[in-house]
Amino acid sequence: MHLPKNYLRKIWRAVMEFEMIFPHDKVMVGLSGGKDSMFLLYALKTMQKYSPFPFQLSAATIDLGYGNIEQDYLAEYCQRLEVPFYLEKTQIAQVVAKTSPDNPCSSCAFYRRGALATICKKKEYNLLALAHHQDDAIETFILSLFYSGQLKTFRPTSNLDRSGLRVIRPLVYFTEAEVKGALKYTDSKAVKNPCPYAGNTKREHVKTFLKELVKENPNVYTHLLSAMREGKKIELWPPKATKEEMQQRYKRFMGKIDKNEKQM
Ligand code: SF4
Repeated sequence: MHLPKNYLRKIWRAVMEFEMIFPHDKVMVGLSGGKDSMFLLYALKTMQKYSPFPFQLSAATIDLGYGNIEQDYLAEYCQRLEVPFYLEKTQIAQVVAKTSPDNPCSSCAFYRRGALATICKKKEYNLLALAHHQDDAIETFILSLFYSGQLKTFRPTSNLDRSGLRVIRPLVYFTEAEVKGALKYTDSKAVKNPCPYAGNTKREHVKTFLKELVKENPNVYTHLLSAMREGKKIELWPPKATKEEMQQRYKRFMGKIDKNEKQM
């Protein structure tokens, strides 16, 4: 197993800075079969090999019900890496088609995370590792702003619920291009996503939009990354005044007018 030093450094940096993995933690990787999760599993396995402290590693795949996910290939990959592999078949595709046909991805991601959390708890893993990278974080930041009017993105480490299960994203210091380039070290391929929405999502639109901006300003990603950090000076409008607050302000305003008029 091999990864260039700068790649391992990026993962260790994220793991240490965001306090992701501690001795004897049990880490389950959400293995969708895409390039990001294939690389994440390989990277964590390599890290485990050279880690100064022990931790356990496994992988879990959620079959969403969209079609062939090449589960045998994924199982073989895990076997080669000597990592336990779990597969859960679900009806998420049908549920999403019924409940959110216009915005399938956020519901799909929500249910998939729920299914992964259930396997973690069943198999007694305390950490769920997801393969989101730096570009994903930036795109999520823009998606939240454009489609729900909120300044937010996912955190590198977060608590999934009150059960103590934590979600970690060890690839947050990797760009998408770096992950793409790193797949060659894993001696594996990304499996095709059978979802009919793949390639035509809001995220893809945001990605295209950002790529266009980058042509004009190569620092767009760096600036957005910097804007995502807490502690930045933020200058925003105050919250919208309620009816009562508007009445009070009106009274104050009118009081001042009266006073000024009396002085005249
Ligand atoms: S593209 Fe398909 S599989 Fe991916 S999040 Fe959207 S609905 Fe789910």
